[in-house]
Amino acid sequence: MPRLRNPLKRDLRKCEEVRGLMSDYLDGELAAEGRRRVERHIFMCRPCRRVLANLRRTLGRLAHLSESPPPGADDERDVAERLRSAWRNHA
Ligand SMILES: [Zn+2]
Repeated sequence: MPRLRNPLKRDLRKCEEVRGLMSDYLDGELAAEGRRRVERHIFMCRPCRRVLANLRRTLGRLAHLSESPPPGADDERDVAERLRSAWRNHA
């Protein structure tokens, strides 16, 4: 029954292709066409949606674990510290 087998086979190839694009997609390094391809597939394919969610969580955790704080965090702390000492000097 080729009519049943073919779409399934095509879907699996699509899954592989989309999964290969996922980390770039999450990094925001994918061109608009690639993003659209991932999003369209994710919309229809629950397993890939789960893979993407897991990958996103993993990448988020890695970002949190990395030694250097994200840019901006230090600035914020700096500003808070400066405000505090300014306030202390004023008081
Ligand atoms: Zn898929």
